[in-house]
Amino acid sequence: MPDREPLQQPVQFLKGVGPARAETLGKLGIATVGDLIFHFPRSYDDLSDLRTINQLTAGELQTVAGEVVELGSKELPDGRTILNVVIADAHGACLEGSWFNQVAPARQFRYGLRVAFSGKPKWFRDHWQMNHPRVQILDDQSEAPANQVVPVYPLTEGLHPEKLRDLIRQALAVGGDHVPDLLPPGLRDKHRYPPAPQALQHVHFPEILGQALQAKRRFIYEEFLILQVALAARRRDTHDRGRAAPLPADTDIDARIRRLFPFALTNDQNRAIREICKDLAQDRPMQRLLQADVGAGKTAVAVYAMLVAIAHKHQAALMAPTEVLARQHWLTLEGYLAHSRVRRLLLTGSLSAKARQEALRDIRAGNVDLVVGTQALVQDDVEFARLGLAVVDEQHKFGVAQRARIRKLGADPHYLVMTATPIPRTIALTVFGDLDLSIIRELPPGRHGVQTRWSSAKDRDKLYEHFRQQLRQGRQAYVVCPLVAESETLDLTAAEQLHAELKEGAFRDFRIGLLHGRMKDDAKDEIMRQFRERELDLLVTTVVIEVGVDVPNATLMLIEHAERFGLSQLHQLRGRVSRGAVAGECWLLAGMTSGDADVRLRAFTRTSDGFALAEEDARLRGLGEFFGTRQHGLGELRFGNLIDDQALLVQARTDAIDLATRDPQLKLPDHSRLRDAVLARYGKTLDLAAIG
Ligand code: ADP
Ligand code: MG
Repeated sequence: MPDREPLQQPVQFLKGVGPARAETLGKLGIATVGDLIFHFPRSYDDLSDLRTINQLTAGELQTVAGEVVELGSKELPDGRTILNVVIADAHGACLEGSWFNQVAPARQFRYGLRVAFSGKPKWFRDHWQMNHPRVQILDDQSEAPANQVVPVYPLTEGLHPEKLRDLIRQALAVGGDHVPDLLPPGLRDKHRYPPAPQALQHVHFPEILGQALQAKRRFIYEEFLILQVALAARRRDTHDRGRAAPLPADTDIDARIRRLFPFALTNDQNRAIREICKDLAQDRPMQRLLQADVGAGKTAVAVYAMLVAIAHKHQAALMAPTEVLARQHWLTLEGYLAHSRVRRLLLTGSLSAKARQEALRDIRAGNVDLVVGTQALVQDDVEFARLGLAVVDEQHKFGVAQRARIRKLGADPHYLVMTATPIPRTIALTVFGDLDLSIIRELPPGRHGVQTRWSSAKDRDKLYEHFRQQLRQGRQAYVVCPLVAESETLDLTAAEQLHAELKEGAFRDFRIGLLHGRMKDDAKDEIMRQFRERELDLLVTTVVIEVGVDVPNATLMLIEHAERFGLSQLHQLRGRVSRGAVAGECWLLAGMTSGDADVRLRAFTRTSDGFALAEEDARLRGLGEFFGTRQHGLGELRFGNLIDDQALLVQARTDAIDLATRDPQLKLPDHSRLRDAVLARYGKTLDLAAIG
């Protein structure tokens, strides 16, 4: 094992770094030699496109070698100074380089000096020009500059790129050979990655672009591999954890369950069911993520799975992240199970102590087949007689830690997670990398989609008039208030204010209700009941309705301050009005939008494909924001990007699974460094007993 000490040395150890420079570097998070080595370029300028002046094309990064034939600066009418340096190439053609308000470049030039200019040329009147070209001084013989690929680093004020390059060069000389190679040699060879020290050289001082990119890929792959090995270990961990009851579904069970649905299941639903049934028939616990866009029919699939468990005299549990959603599921189940003998129970936080005790007793005694509930279900005092299947809706709201607790619910239940947030495949592989994946893309027949329009505040009156018209025709509407701050009190005020305003004003002739997160459960239920039964025309609400609320006649939605919502959230909201017999309408009102919000809202109006939006969201906000870092608990990646580097991620996953099969505990000497790295980074978060 290489001695890592040189990597820990403070940057001040290097030539040219005093306290001031050390502080500047500190702003970039660079404190040690190792930090410098792993301060990777953001991108590269490829200066290898060497041309004669007559071959230049406008707008592309190109390099020209020539001799200085003219040199001068002057003041422009607007007060700026301009430095012009004209070079001529071997064919006598000329190119003018210009610098505005900079004196420094002038010093390096003299007549007859051979230089190379790199930049994006433009044709001006009768000659080629480059603004602020990158300059390299050539020696008398050479035709081409020495640096053909120049790294572009994240910089901070007071740090010149050349200085940073010099420091990195020193750091590599001191510590480069001490960077441990975490990749097992077999995998390194398979992908033709250079050893770590050489790869680092290529990242910082490449000869050609391809070399730099391949070297960078190596570190991205390494980072992904560490993550995927951790996830593979956890997956084995759960699979090895013991035996689950095999719950095979035969044709008789299948027929009995299907009779309960008032519709034929879609192809995608049937495929998901097949995948689930295959897992349920095994004697090790299913670990499956069921993913589908809002309203695509996950709940129906989950009901099917739960009934399979119940057919085998096992219990099933369905957990939702909020009371509203738990009740909604409860009602849906009531619909499907009205004519069945399934004994069922709704267990939420709002049960009285006595009712709760009674419920728990029944669950423990096995007098209940199916339990629907919120997190209250996973509290420690809940004990099942024979829990065969646990279904969790909206997993990402629960987070990793919650999942560990669910395992304690019964001996070893089969486990199905539903999520209505379409998760890009690569992210599903990452955050839920220890789960198998079933996807429903197809919507049930007869859906009409949602028209989404982005409107400005000055059209508010017209918009209200449109809503009034629609309400008069018997439709129902949501008006959604934004998150004003991370404070429930403020959100509440916003919703209450708007409710009061609309009630007195634009919608005084209509029946208006208010629903928000601070209300008591009974009050929430009552409002939802009224809305469902058309005793209300319009519901002013906060994001409480984001998940799962299902009122088919409500086909209109107005989202206030849409710019404050994330894409996933907007998509969830819009899903509320996509369930009816008529096409839904989703209107966005946005205040001042920044560049980001602009991109977001434009993407949102353009497509209703949840997967495309999720990908856009992850791209815009990064993984941490997408799930909330605390929730997924995996931290940010340093080199890799889950969207842009998908191919490498998938490769790393395949390799990790293979590795975990051949050497589950990473005991082979070739795997020891990888093992250390996995444990150092994910041992705690993922509770990696298998290789610990
Ligand atoms: P999700 O849980 O994915 O949001 P649900 O299972 O709640 O979707 O289904 C949404 C709506 O579509 C429900 O009203 C449900 O009754 C209906 N539905 C589900 N599957 C089908 C189907 N195959 N054909 C017709 N309607 C369906
Ligand atoms: Mg649902």
